[in-house]
Amino acid sequence: MTPLERALRERIQAEGPISVEAFMEACNSYYYATRDPFGADGDFTTAPEISQMFGEILGAALAEVWKRAGAPADAIYAELGPGRGTLAADALRVLRSAGWAGEVHFVETSPVLRQAQAKAVPGAHWHDLVEDLPARPLLLVANEFLDALPIVQTADGVERRVQVAAGGLAFDRDGEIAESSPARDAVVSAIALCVAERGGAAIIIDYGHERNAAGDTLQAVRSHRFAPVLERPGEQDLTAHVDFEAAARAASNAGAGVTRVVPQGEWLIRLGIESRARALSRANPERARDVEASLQRLTSADGMGNLFKVLALHSPKWPAPAGFA
Ligand code: SAH
Repeated sequence: MTPLERALRERIQAEGPISVEAFMEACNSYYYATRDPFGADGDFTTAPEISQMFGEILGAALAEVWKRAGAPADAIYAELGPGRGTLAADALRVLRSAGWAGEVHFVETSPVLRQAQAKAVPGAHWHDLVEDLPARPLLLVANEFLDALPIVQTADGVERRVQVAAGGLAFDRDGEIAESSPARDAVVSAIALCVAERGGAAIIIDYGHERNAAGDTLQAVRSHRFAPVLERPGEQDLTAHVDFEAAARAASNAGAGVTRVVPQGEWLIRLGIESRARALSRANPERARDVEASLQRLTSADGMGNLFKVLALHSPKWPAPAGFA
């Protein structure tokens, strides 16, 4: 039994069944606080870990909108859940070469990952919450952040809980599952309020759907394979599809401009990832096959191209980032 499972069983015995939301929140805080889960030896691989092109395109997108907004010198780069800091390092190279020279602020709760981020991005500042970011124009990125935040599940309209049954953890009910996520809505509203009040743009990337739909999307991944959700609590990554319709609604209610939701592959191609790949391959012919494979993985429908979606929020005083029209 994992240490977290022991703690959860004690909690359930004391308090009664806990919500899926409380379960996911407890599992993921333990999981991220105790490891670096990325890469071949870890549990899963994210887009910035596949290729530098991903962070570079994000950096270029932010640099472009920052220039069109008049290049405010006090704009900061902010990233939510920066993982190993790889995306930030790649994006910052491009932003700095475009003349931006602002501060870097990360929202990250894991002490282990904060250490990795400090190595990748010297001089960064850390916060626990979006609300703690300094009051300046934002160039914000969140990649695979919202999918890790806890969701509420209902089964036939009744909140689903996790109980101890037959010696193991089990759901207390089945039925038609619907999902919502007050935690995600709160984060998206906080980002939207910040950009609406202070200026800025935010690019949110995650796997999920453009329109709200019923269904159970909670999943666990360990060593690059799907695993039963209630197995090994705290030792596997729990995520759920992001409902981009709900995210866009939360952002717009909080006063931000909202773009269309576009598939990651389409967005990366519009922003020039193919010519970036050709340039990389020309400069490093020995890596050409790798570069081509990464490009396919990031953009193709059988890779991350369709399942992953991109949404941008922006201050009503800033133009929308490119690639969404
Ligand atoms: N963006 C990175 C990592 C994605 S994994 C990449 O693309 O590689 C999710 C990240 O969010 C991790 O860094 C994790 O520690 C962080 N995280 C998860 N829940 C969080 C929370 N509630 N508050 C702050 N950071 C959180």
